This record gives sequence, C-alpha cells and structure tokens, in this order.
Amino acid sequence: MSNAVSEVLLLMGPPGAGKGTQAQRLAEGRGLTKLSTGDLLRDHVRRGTQLGTEAKVLMDQGVLVPDEIIMGMVKSELDKQDPVRVLLDGFPRTTGQADALEELLGEYGAQVDQAIELVVDEDELVRRLVSRAAQEGRSDDNEETIRTRMKVYRDQTAPLLEYYGAKGKLSSIDGVGTLDEVTERLQDALSAEAQ
Ligand code: AMP
Repeated sequence: MSNAVSEVLLLMGPPGAGKGTQAQRLAEGRGLTKLSTGDLLRDHVRRGTQLGTEAKVLMDQGVLVPDEIIMGMVKSELDKQDPVRVLLDGFPRTTGQADALEELLGEYGAQVDQAIELVVDEDELVRRLVSRAAQEGRSDDNEETIRTRMKVYRDQTAPLLEYYGAKGKLSSIDGVGTLDEVTERLQDALSAEAQ
C-alpha cells in the first residue's frame, strides 16, 4: 500500500449535461483517473469483443447494460489502482450498481467521498445532444434514443440523487454556462465540502 489517500468522486447528471468534458477537466486538476463506463463500453465495441457486441445492441437502444457487466469492468479498472483515486463518470446508474460499488470500494479501503450533480433543463439537453450527434456521429445520439435515455435516467438513475443526498454526499450545481464557468462551480463545490 502506498501512503497517498484514496479519493472517489462521482459526476452525475442526465445525458447531455456535459459530464464527460467536465469529468476530464476535474480529474486532471485533482490528479484522479477518469473512469467512464460509457467510454469503456465504446472501447469494447470498437475492439469488437464479445462484451462489446452484446453491449452495442443495448447502447443503440438507449437502455442500460446489465449491472454485472458494468461491475466486472469497473472492478478490473479499480484493480489497477492503489490507492483508488478516481472520478467516476456515468457510473453508478442504478441503485444496484451504487450498492455494489460501495461494497467493492470497501475491499480497497475506500468510499464515495462526494457526488456532484450537473443540473441542466431538458430542452437544453435535447438541443445539446442533437448538436453532438451532428458533430460526433455517435450512433446513440438520434432523437428516439435520446428520448429513451432521458427516460432511463429519470426512472433508473435519478433515484441515486436521493441515495447520495441521504448520506449527505450530494452537491448540485448549475450545468448551464461556459465550460470554464461550470468547471469553476464544480471546483467550488468540492472545496466547500472539504472545509
Ligand atoms: P454514456 O456515454 O455514459 O452516456 O453511456 C452510453 C451508453 O452506455 C448508455 O446509454 C448505456 O447503454 C451504456 N452505459 C454506460 N454506462 C453505463 C452504466 N453505468 N450502466 C449501464 N449502462 C451503461
């Protein structure tokens, strides 16, 4: 074991809230590894692994990949870390994943330190996702899938806000503004918590 302390942050928010970009910035600023389950899955799809082939069907529909698959991927990433210093992006997405994460982190002597929610209203989200579809050509950024992903977020992931809120670990910040403005709000939320 090294002497450095573990740190686990979660960035939460609906599809299109800007989690990926902000997660990258925040992770770099704090010396954390960004761990995005969406990126890990897209990497499997690109490499044509069996997991990727199975996941692609679900991702293209905008529905969630089963918890067991996600937890297996996360575990193998956390196994590479000592101590665990991660910023989790797009994970956990269900209460099952959140419970499994807590148990897994316990094995590494770590815990979720703070969850931050990026708040963006739904009209703005759809506008951003449609424009991302035009720029990046992600196969799950079409209008029908976007609508499904919003619903999946509301039904399956939004309950996690209460889950972390009840533990006193949630901060919600306004996700509308320039990239720098939002990064600054995130940093303020983190330093406020540390005091
Ligand atoms: P994202 O890039 O985080 O928006 O994820 C894209 C897609 O990958 C989602 O719509 C899901 O199909 C799948 N996915 C990513 N992360 C998870 C997760 N933690 N649990 C279940 N499915 C996930």
